[in-house]
Amino acid sequence: MKLFLCTFIILCHSLSFAQKAPNIIIIFADDLGYGDLSCYGHPTIHTPNLDKLASEGQKWTQFYSASHICSPSRAALLTGLYPVRTGTDSHVFFEWSAQGLPPSTTTLAEALKANGYKTACVGKWHLGHLDGYLPTDHGFDEYFGVPYSNDMRVDPKMKVSENVLFREGMTLKKMRTRGNKVDNWVPLFENKSIIEYPCDQKTLTSRYTEASISFINQHKDSPFFLFLSHNMPHIPLFASQAFEGKSKRGLYGDTIEEMDYSVGAILAALKDNGIDNNTLVIFTSDNGPDLTYNQNGGSAGLLKGSKFYATEGGQRVPAIFWWPNQIEPGVISELGSTLDIFETCLGMAEIKNPNSTALDSFDLSPTLTEQSESPRENFFYFSSSTPPRGTIYAVRQGSWKAHFYTSGIPHYEPSAVTQNDPVLLYNLDQDPGENYNLSDQYPEITERLQKLSHEFEASIHLGPNQFLKKISEQVRPEWAQ
Ligand code: MG
Repeated sequence: MKLFLCTFIILCHSLSFAQKAPNIIIIFADDLGYGDLSCYGHPTIHTPNLDKLASEGQKWTQFYSASHICSPSRAALLTGLYPVRTGTDSHVFFEWSAQGLPPSTTTLAEALKANGYKTACVGKWHLGHLDGYLPTDHGFDEYFGVPYSNDMRVDPKMKVSENVLFREGMTLKKMRTRGNKVDNWVPLFENKSIIEYPCDQKTLTSRYTEASISFINQHKDSPFFLFLSHNMPHIPLFASQAFEGKSKRGLYGDTIEEMDYSVGAILAALKDNGIDNNTLVIFTSDNGPDLTYNQNGGSAGLLKGSKFYATEGGQRVPAIFWWPNQIEPGVISELGSTLDIFETCLGMAEIKNPNSTALDSFDLSPTLTEQSESPRENFFYFSSSTPPRGTIYAVRQGSWKAHFYTSGIPHYEPSAVTQNDPVLLYNLDQDPGENYNLSDQYPEITERLQKLSHEFEASIHLGPNQFLKKISEQVRPEWAQ
């Protein structure tokens, strides 16, 4: 009888868990700017599915990526830690990088997996391509995607699947000997090995969508976490035949409209499976638009600067949260960050995490469910190049932002980094474009923000730099020697 009762209680508990724990989907765009969706003001890029997501959920207007470049931004989202803490702050990973996100970190995937979630990463990873650093080494049950940016090359020593598809006259021998010579020829991975090389980038968005829907269909009965990390609209730009040439904004717009279509397809899959009311969907971007590619880059709207800069255009990104009947719909002008996604997902799933390692993550769920004040009061903008690692370029507290440094493009024009004397001070609620320096009028605010930054800098333990080790000198292209 006792055994029967115990079994019954366990069964009830697991059934209620299955019903209660929400599925979580994070859709992450690459280099999509603050002004690149129609719901964020773009006049010619049409994003009806994201607009619907925003109108049914919450659209955040002061939401920050933790970095203005790719790898650090991803490390922060998955760990809830400023990238300086994990040693992923100062560059991006390349095909010759020997390291990645340190295995010792706890990712959101690991935290959710420990609570019964099925986990998948689909798309761009960019936190290390070698064994030990891939998504399946960081809490994801499965992986399908390009392990870094789509303008990189192949590491000729990568594992190759038995069923690999070689394209463009490529063979295993050619790849091993000279595969790394071709720009934009990137490998497509399934779990830990290449299944296609060079991958057909025109099909990436649609194949990522198919893989995502397949994962959703397969795990509709258990809580799942899907991290769908698009390669687009990072350059080089590719859209499938159905979208190429269709947007008024040119190829850049085509890629975003295809991504929007993908969002619609994923929402339809949730509905078809009857799980749309039990799924939290988050859409955001890893950093601002890349303006070094002119029309092939996006737009930060009314914000100053772009990718590579600690200005608003470099780090403020669109952010949409959707979960029917749970999220109080509205436009939120509170502070939030991709850093907060870690604790927010756990908070929305009502998972207790008393020994959380996500030191820089705030649980935004009270704001999502009740529109109460955001617990985030400050946001720190770190350098990804000179001055030394761990230096805070700028800080935001409430409506105020102080810039201690003005950056050039890291690694390309490091000499353009200048220390601002006097410090630049902006009221971002009144001046989101950072046009009017008010430091003369409010020296006490400048001083307060300086003190805040110095204290935070001093409190941070810098993780060992993950970009120093290279796998081999000969796999590095000439321009990177
Ligand atoms: Mg990026």
